[in-house]
Amino acid sequence: MGTIISLTLFQNRPQVVTTVYQYLVDAEKKFSANNDNSEIMRINQSAGIRPVSVSPAVFDLIKRAVMYSKKFPNSFNVAIGPLVKLWDIGFSGQRVPSATEIRQKLKAVAITGIELNESQLQVYLKYPGMAIDLGAIAKGYFADQIAFQLKRWGIKDAIIDLGGNVVTLGHNQLAKNSDWQIGIQDPKKTRGEILGKVQLPACSAVTSGIGERNFKVRDKFYHHIISPRTGYPVENDVAQVTIFSPSSIQGEVLATVAFFAGITAGQQLVKQTPNVAAIFVTRAGEIKLTSGLNFKKIA
Ligand code: AMP
Ligand code: MG
Repeated sequence: MGTIISLTLFQNRPQVVTTVYQYLVDAEKKFSANNDNSEIMRINQSAGIRPVSVSPAVFDLIKRAVMYSKKFPNSFNVAIGPLVKLWDIGFSGQRVPSATEIRQKLKAVAITGIELNESQLQVYLKYPGMAIDLGAIAKGYFADQIAFQLKRWGIKDAIIDLGGNVVTLGHNQLAKNSDWQIGIQDPKKTRGEILGKVQLPACSAVTSGIGERNFKVRDKFYHHIISPRTGYPVENDVAQVTIFSPSSIQGEVLATVAFFAGITAGQQLVKQTPNVAAIFVTRAGEIKLTSGLNFKKIA
């Protein structure tokens, strides 16, 4: 998955660790957007040709992603694949495409082009050139699944960290008040350098931002969150947003949608959503919290 994953338990259950590891190896095989044999790749390679039969997990995640894409039509879009591949940001092929190329790809990101057949577990991309991209939500989905399984196996306290997509379970046995501490990445610094930390009970913490996959051409800055309306990386006042929520897939979607909304409207959106809080970092480097968060800035 292109990142470092860690699972922290507070009891000696090696079999649980092995099973979670196997789950993730299997998930990567099914969901990868880079592996030619994954189910996602088969769907994309069959665009405009034929429906593809998929496993229940792949169908389930695509179905949810389509639902969110319809709910937030100008921001979150699981059919964004053609534009993501065109820009290729964070990979060796990254470049600024021509306006003509972008215009052509914009036609291929219509969510109505995804046809789901629930009884047959089939996914069909109706037009050639379409491609599903689950990069914005897959890790949240995996984290939720792992959290669910851990609880079933009787694990009460844990940290699931899928490369910055964090889910905490139960109580922090190392803290007096049992809250968890989660560091917030500084979007201007290298991974692991935090701008502060937040203390809170078990929840999911998911971050979207411009800090990691990006490049500059002639002083112009480009990053990996692409507008399905313009075909260009979103240009607004947000550098990064971290969403704290009960479910991680919800956090993923909300992080993307709040990113698109901008600092002011993004904060409004979070306030209107029950049981959710957020930390925004503006492009100017200011930190904006929604109320009720116990946040300590690093001096
Ligand atoms: P995240 O790190 O969770 O914010 O996800 C970023 C990834 O989501 C990108 O690298 C793309 O693979 C994908 N993506 C880019 N733009 C969008 C969009 N508008 N809607 C959904 N996914 C996107
Ligand atoms: Mg995300």
